[in-house]
Amino acid sequence: MRAIGTPRRIGLLGGTFDPVHIGHLRGALEVAEMVGLDEVRLVPNYRPPHRETPYSTAQDRLSMVRLAVQDLAPLSVDARELERDKPSYTVDTLESLRAELDDDDQVFLIMGWDAFCGLPSWHRWDQLLDHCHILVMQRPDADSESPEALRDLLAARSVNDPLTLTGSGGQIAFVWQAPLGVSATRIRQFLASGRSVRFLVPDAVLAYINAHGLYRASN
Ligand code: ATP
Repeated sequence: MRAIGTPRRIGLLGGTFDPVHIGHLRGALEVAEMVGLDEVRLVPNYRPPHRETPYSTAQDRLSMVRLAVQDLAPLSVDARELERDKPSYTVDTLESLRAELDDDDQVFLIMGWDAFCGLPSWHRWDQLLDHCHILVMQRPDADSESPEALRDLLAARSVNDPLTLTGSGGQIAFVWQAPLGVSATRIRQFLASGRSVRFLVPDAVLAYINAHGLYRASN
């Protein structure tokens, strides 16, 4: 338990979560344990600016994330991006979260390597590190080369050991969690072709998918 007055260490894992799966959940849990985070909030996007329209509604995606993290401390859901009626830019989310925290609280933006590689197309991406540190999770099915646009940033800001990240933000570290080659795309494909996704998503999420007929070929 955190002593009163100790800075908080909060992880944020944004995503479409269409649907949430074990890659997100194991990754978030392992990062929390390895880096010593007090909490990791899963933040479902409302209208992802860089993505196609999600396959299920915002309400369904939020419900599935809620089911996935129930009784799974330190994971929780932060629905603030779904409460906005405009594109959900991560920098806005960070600013809104920062406004609720103490100055010395630490925010860790967690993302997979594929998402990190897309960073230069994000809105005001050069300001993200003003508000947080970035923790990058490996993704076994992603390209390993970093894009040219990120090389200078990585050279200037990356540290080898995520445990050495100090202060309220500004640095990047890699977290070598157990690699899981699972994606929401693959899960949707499995479901559309009638294959089982058991053990790729929590049972409660699978029950929700089945009860609401999500991701079937006819949808
Ligand atoms: P899709 O297949 O629809 O693109 P996805 O499986 O990549 O979805 P997202 O909701 O887009 O899931 O991912 C949210 C975040 O979680 C991203 O930063 C992504 O890189 C990361 N992530 C997703 N799956 C994994 C995984 N298996 N291992 C590590 N990180 C992951």
